[in-house]
Amino acid sequence: ISYTGKYTPLSRTELVKKLQEALTPSRFNHVLRVEQTAIQLAQKYGESVEKASIAGLVHDYAKQRPDADFIRAIKQYRLDDNLLNYGNAIWHGVVGWLFVAKELQIENIDILKAVEYHTVGHQYMSKLAQIVYMADYIEPGRDFPGVSKAREATEISLAAGVSCQTQQTLSYLIENKLPVYPQTIITYNAWVPVQT
Ligand code: GDP
Ligand code: FE
Ligand code: FE
Ligand code: FE
Repeated sequence: ISYTGKYTPLSRTELVKKLQEALTPSRFNHVLRVEQTAIQLAQKYGESVEKASIAGLVHDYAKQRPDADFIRAIKQYRLDDNLLNYGNAIWHGVVGWLFVAKELQIENIDILKAVEYHTVGHQYMSKLAQIVYMADYIEPGRDFPGVSKAREATEISLAAGVSCQTQQTLSYLIENKLPVYPQTIITYNAWVPVQT
């Protein structure tokens, strides 16, 4: 796949090189699998393959940044102070999209929002954001209880996949007494309950 230049001045090869430099080999390989899964979902559900490729490649760009970079960005950009009570698992998406925009020269808001929302979701997710959220969760390297259920749901519809993942993630966090980021609960209420 070659890029049109509409979403980033970088070629796919240049983007891949930047990801490889920013990530460990196993995380880099995850990113390549998310890209391929996102492309397949884009073809199935009628989204731009180029946007799916770019968003899949860059979604975990900030995963290996030191905490200090995120803390500095949270203050510099005056993001919600409550973010400081969390860590890399939340920051690499919710804050990491700022590094993607700046350092990878990606200005497309749909791609940046897909990166921002890929871990905790959002009440309003575009088709691309739903694709990245699901591709990250069901890429072929993933093996955890519930992954086949999530793969089957995503075959039925993106919304069914998003609902399945959001429910499973919240259950997992609660089961393990992990702190729940408030946006995760907002996402749950928007996508999971069968009636309101
Ligand atoms: P990855 O970056 O490819 O490993 O995947 P994600 O970005 O989707 O998720 C990173 C981690 O964040 C996963 O282990 C999720 O279970 C976890 N996570 C998602 N939502 C929350 C939350 O609200 N609170 C906490 N503590 N962790 C969360
Ligand atoms: Fe991630
Ligand atoms: Fe995810
Ligand atoms: Fe990921």
